[in-house]
Amino acid sequence: MADHTVAPTAVEFDNVGKDFGKSGRPALAGVGLTVASGEIIGIIGPSGAGKSTLARLINGLEAPTSGRVLVHGRDHTGASERELNRLRTDIGMIFQQFNLFASRTVAGNVGFGLRVSGVPKAQRIERVAELLDFVGIADKADARPASLSGGQKQRVGIARALATSPSILIADEATSALDPQTTAETLRLLRRINEELGTTIVVITHEMDVVREICHSVAVLDQGALVDRGDVYQVFSEPTSDVTRGLVQYAVAGVPDRDVLGELSRRHPGRLITVPVRDDPTPQIEITTAAAHHDVSATVIHGGIAELAGRPFGALTFLLTGHDDAVESVLAAVAARPGVVIHDPDAGTEATTEGEVP
Ligand code: ADP
Repeated sequence: MADHTVAPTAVEFDNVGKDFGKSGRPALAGVGLTVASGEIIGIIGPSGAGKSTLARLINGLEAPTSGRVLVHGRDHTGASERELNRLRTDIGMIFQQFNLFASRTVAGNVGFGLRVSGVPKAQRIERVAELLDFVGIADKADARPASLSGGQKQRVGIARALATSPSILIADEATSALDPQTTAETLRLLRRINEELGTTIVVITHEMDVVREICHSVAVLDQGALVDRGDVYQVFSEPTSDVTRGLVQYAVAGVPDRDVLGELSRRHPGRLITVPVRDDPTPQIEITTAAAHHDVSATVIHGGIAELAGRPFGALTFLLTGHDDAVESVLAAVAARPGVVIHDPDAGTEATTEGEVP
């Protein structure tokens, strides 16, 4: 392929391992992952899963112990410091703690990298003004970081990361120190960067809400291994790993945990069943139809429905009351549906879960 060809793949991890040489498991093992140009991908997983290491491999801050990391089709293993610096001007990075120079003004922070790369002053001033305008803090050019709110500081960080017009932006827990409203504003800005500038964005996060809000696709890491990967809706609606299931359970208000179930069981005599809410409303229709057919009362007593990648996603818990045999018939009518959970009548624990349905 000729050099000038634009690779449709922004980053490719080809069977990548990273071992820091300490005792214990490697930070990453056998990771194969492709990031398409122009996508927003979420890298999610618990603390210590290897997320930051994965990000640092992209811009060459770390080198893989095995396998290859390709950026726009190029392997930069063994590249000179000069080549790595060139690579890094094409990869912006923003951080949880903003990493701003306290002694420099906002404009000084944003223009710092341009100054180091020898961009002439007049051009620098113009570019900094353009960037501050883009991120919505043009009026803060002469302020010091200490006088800014967390959200404004992150905007400075974002403007600085965009200064060299990178094709890839890595956001490493960039909203983890922000309150929910500022998080939402920052995520909207990242989405705008993706849409208007076409920047590929790699979002490293432990927050499922961040993935839900802006990512097109998601990769779930656990203990250095890639355990789930794909379209956000598909990964979260059909998780294949315990870690992903845990993240979904935590983030979707509709699935009652053990304590809530205990409370619900105490308050409501009857059988409880949790039904997933997805694009296809068949399970809800089936349960209400079966309940009507068997003269059973079906009442929603717990639940939540959120938007995930613009589609409905959640769960509803029904209380079924009526003759025992009739209630059993209603449960049997939907038991085989994926994601349906029939709760134990006594303990408030799960009696039947997806894939274990009789
Ligand atoms: P995450 O970002 O998911 O929290 P990290 O990538 O920071 O995970 O860390 C993954 C594993 O690699 C952890 O066990 C961590 O202790 C180890 N690790 C990360 N960076 C280094 C380093 N520079 N030296 C030694 N071990 C490291």
